[in-house]
Amino acid sequence: MFDQSLIDQVRENVDIVDVIQSYIPLKKAGSGFKALCPFHEEDTPSFNVSRQKQIFKCFGCGKSGNVFTFVQEYEKISFPEAMRRLAQRAGVRLPQQAPPSAADHARDALFRACELAAAFYRKQLATIGETAREYLEQRGIGEKTVEAFDIGYAPDDFQALHNYLREKSISDNDLIRAGLLRRNERGNVYDLLRHRLIFPIRNGNGRVVAFGGRVLSPDQQGGKYINSPTSDIYTKGEELYGLYQARYDIGKREHAVMCEGYTDLIRLHDSGFTHAVASLGTALTNRQLHLLGRYAKKIVLLYDGDRAGRTAAMKSGLSALQQGFDVQVCALPADQDPDSYLVEQGAEALQKLLDEAPSLPDFVNADSVMDMSRRTKVDVLRDAILRIDNALARELFAGEVAQAFGVSVTSLLAGGLQRRRKNNAEREQFFLAKNHWEQECIRFMMQHPELVENLCSKLKTDYFFDEIYRELYEVIARQPERLQHASSLLSEIASEDVRNLLGDLLMDEAPVLTEPEMVALVRQRKAQLDLRRIEEALTLVSQDSVEFTELLRRKKELQQELHVHDRRKVTKTLF
Ligand code: ZN
Repeated sequence: MFDQSLIDQVRENVDIVDVIQSYIPLKKAGSGFKALCPFHEEDTPSFNVSRQKQIFKCFGCGKSGNVFTFVQEYEKISFPEAMRRLAQRAGVRLPQQAPPSAADHARDALFRACELAAAFYRKQLATIGETAREYLEQRGIGEKTVEAFDIGYAPDDFQALHNYLREKSISDNDLIRAGLLRRNERGNVYDLLRHRLIFPIRNGNGRVVAFGGRVLSPDQQGGKYINSPTSDIYTKGEELYGLYQARYDIGKREHAVMCEGYTDLIRLHDSGFTHAVASLGTALTNRQLHLLGRYAKKIVLLYDGDRAGRTAAMKSGLSALQQGFDVQVCALPADQDPDSYLVEQGAEALQKLLDEAPSLPDFVNADSVMDMSRRTKVDVLRDAILRIDNALARELFAGEVAQAFGVSVTSLLAGGLQRRRKNNAEREQFFLAKNHWEQECIRFMMQHPELVENLCSKLKTDYFFDEIYRELYEVIARQPERLQHASSLLSEIASEDVRNLLGDLLMDEAPVLTEPEMVALVRQRKAQLDLRRIEEALTLVSQDSVEFTELLRRKKELQQELHVHDRRKVTKTLF
């Protein structure tokens, strides 16, 4: 999207200290600056900014990055948006954006129609929406919540919205495309939502894209809820209701409470659970998880307590797990939903329930409402384990499931394919724990950019077993010159975990080693791990096989390679 040279130009013309200072107060501390971290709750400052290195790092929550990542994370915006803001600040001219296309124009018309419709419904609630106001009052929903969610009222009239928007020169066609009007068989158009309480749905950028309408009298036709149909600006199952209002609190509390519907969500926010969002469907979609993942990677599922609600919670929990979320499930009594529970038991009781929410495996194990046998429960969870891509996450979840059901990981995963994957997972974890020298090597590279090329000529990507260090090694080996501005490397890295780690390494001091020492250590470690594998393999093949002889030969080779190096350092790498 932007030229590297343009990005560099912007980076060189802004100072991270000035930029961060324009958002939060910084205090001079030693050679750098400190502040209370804007990304997690804390009482003593552990958020550090280095002018010299042009990076920030929080020792409390681990977040780190450069000036672009700070603006992105703080404002919750994309890289191009952050780039635009910083370019303006730096006085760097960016190339003109492409002129809006016909499709953009068409979408803009729908956004405008929805925004105007939301304002119309809001106004009707204040003026003629007496039934709706009574309904809200009876349920004890406060004025503040009504305002925060732009709750409105659609009049009991087939043409009210139509007439209003026609005066604002919005065409019938756009109104139909926005899902606000319908056309009947005779070709006449009429308002979709009538005599209903209106909940506007905002997308991640805060724009109204759809509406939900709830009946106000029990004898009304057309179902308890009517939702906008899918349109050019709204796809069902892709937005999270309440995310726009909850996003800062979700970030601060580092988790979201996920419920199912409008009234649960409104009740939760009204009771102080301002980090709640609603999926507006049964199970969570990947797109919704992706949206939420911008703010937190932990979810507490708070669905209805009946069988359908619990089953949806289990499904959503498993999807969230696949997407790398930490998942807990808060199980309500079988005859309750979050709204009714809050009305009957109060916020404190719910808070307690949320605090004690079990992990997904514990929830599934304890459940008796979903009507699943123990066997089925184990099968469902085992399938989920095998579908997790990340080795460490897979291992951790397998451990949780095994513990919840009181079985060993081995017996849990026993059987053909499962067994193989387990062995791999165990091996990978073994390597993960021994990544000390991989980390040291990356740190060394970052602090001695002039030696990187030479070092890379002696190492290979597959010497790095830990995927994080492997990714870092690859990025650095590909463009060693980028290390001249180490902070700019941070923009290259998509994974937040990897970025945070890189920030750590940048902040730390260099290890006192020479380049040949560094190379020797990483190579020795590779040789040691290969040796260990071979020894394992030797116990598995028959002694008179060709394979055995070959393995033995390779073992000797490796032992020799290890002997070549200084004994002392070899011992040091031995964990
Ligand atoms: Zn922090």
